[in-house]
Amino acid sequence: MAGVVVVFDFDKTIIDCDSDNWVVDELGVTDMFTRLLPTLPWNSLMDRMMMEIHSQGKTIEDIAQCLKQVPVHPKIISAIKSAHASGCDLRILSDANPLFIETILKHHGLMECFSEINTNPSFVDGEGRLRILPFYDFHSSSHGCNICPPNMCKGLIMERIRASVSAEGKKRFIYVGDGQPDLCAGLKLREGEGLMPRKNFPLWDLICTNPMRIKAQIHEWSNGEELERILLHQINTIVIEEQCGTLRSSDRLVAVDCKLQTSSVSAHEAFPNALPVPH
Ligand SMILES: [Mg+2]
Ligand SMILES: [Zn+2]
Repeated sequence: MAGVVVVFDFDKTIIDCDSDNWVVDELGVTDMFTRLLPTLPWNSLMDRMMMEIHSQGKTIEDIAQCLKQVPVHPKIISAIKSAHASGCDLRILSDANPLFIETILKHHGLMECFSEINTNPSFVDGEGRLRILPFYDFHSSSHGCNICPPNMCKGLIMERIRASVSAEGKKRFIYVGDGQPDLCAGLKLREGEGLMPRKNFPLWDLICTNPMRIKAQIHEWSNGEELERILLHQINTIVIEEQCGTLRSSDRLVAVDCKLQTSSVSAHEAFPNALPVPH
């Protein structure tokens, strides 16, 4: 298995829109959402909106049908499948909820590509209403991070993910995201790792303001084609470096010139495990 962990934000990263906004708009409660937004944290407001949707007679199945219409770029689907096939450990870190995320992933055949989904808990109550709870119980205490919303600190979850995979040997992380809380996750990355901010979105704006804060290499992307190309290239680079390291440390003569990655021979020819990167 490749020593690469890719952590994806979900909204405006894997899917092109925000799943919360999509459901609110498609099920016709946008006016109430806009009116209440100044008075409630986003996560609490979404729980309130699920109550409203339920009171209007809409079911969980109606919500699921609406989520299946969410646009997902085909190149993002192929990027996720390729990264998974190459042995990368893929995870999601999102401020949405499991029902929204899993409905969309299953609809596109991506569910089995991810080893873990870190998000706000949700459940369907006895009356058939979706309840959305905070990941972090901010009513009892604060997580203390002023980059993230009160219900979830993405940096704290990144630290937990890193600790949980540390027993499996050296792992290098790539993080893909668009929003302000994704900066908190990106700040936990180390040298030799990769941060992929979506260009012209809040994470990218924040990095442009102060790039020195990030230790990881920064690779911006704008759309599905760029995400696929840049992500698969980074994974290949890490896989090749790992294989070179293995050869160097073995007793055999080093038969492969590790400068190969910059030579005219393609990575895929030299290393059959490498992913074909679209040009
Ligand atoms: Mg996002
Ligand atoms: Zn945070």
